[in-house]
Amino acid sequence: MGRFDTERKELIELLRSKGITDENVLTAMMKVERHLFVDQMFINRAYEDNALPIGSEQTISQPYTVAFMTQALRPKKEMKVLEIGTGSGYQAAVLATIGCRVFTIERHLSLLNSARKLFDVQQLRVAAKGGDGTVGWSEHAPYDAIIVTAGAPSIPDALVNQLNEGGRLAIPVGNKEAQQLIVGTKISGKLQTEVIDGFKFVPLIGKNGWN
Ligand code: SAH
Repeated sequence: MGRFDTERKELIELLRSKGITDENVLTAMMKVERHLFVDQMFINRAYEDNALPIGSEQTISQPYTVAFMTQALRPKKEMKVLEIGTGSGYQAAVLATIGCRVFTIERHLSLLNSARKLFDVQQLRVAAKGGDGTVGWSEHAPYDAIIVTAGAPSIPDALVNQLNEGGRLAIPVGNKEAQQLIVGTKISGKLQTEVIDGFKFVPLIGKNGWN
């Protein structure tokens, strides 16, 4: 048994009790060691169902939010997924552990660099770059799923354009204080969406985001 295995198992049971049902997601979150992705100052709180500071005024998302958004993408092995907002790298690690081919973009280079180190050490299949993710990553498009882990003022067209037919999008949209999670499928070139209330993210800053 590794350090925190019991705490992690309890977190997975909590996620189940909160309605997460996708076994691929739950199994991956049982494998990924969240305590390696948080600031060592907060290591003993890594398996609480809360967001935690990761530096540069950013946060690692709450585990329930990661589970909910990941499940919303309907992730499968070999799916190509673009993430905007690498942050700690935890969300990307969960997707890579499911078997997705992950591309992720982060605007804070210090966060990008620490996340990259974690991907390397853990031999996770994640391509990470620095820059403004609101324009997407056209070189690797189209994607089967796109996940935005920061709150946007609206859905950037550039991201919808880089999504495959039938592809899934999860993006929080709202003002800077609170957002709704928009989950969509691209059908005949257009996004069909559903809206889920009650999410709070750090702002998405960039050309197609906040100033
Ligand atoms: N997915 C992350 C959550 C990080 S919080 C995790 O698992 O830890 C959201 C991140 O989005 C922050 O690190 C922030 O710097 C980044 N971000 C905000 N706007 C961005 C943009 N336009 N392009 C890329 N990253 C952005």
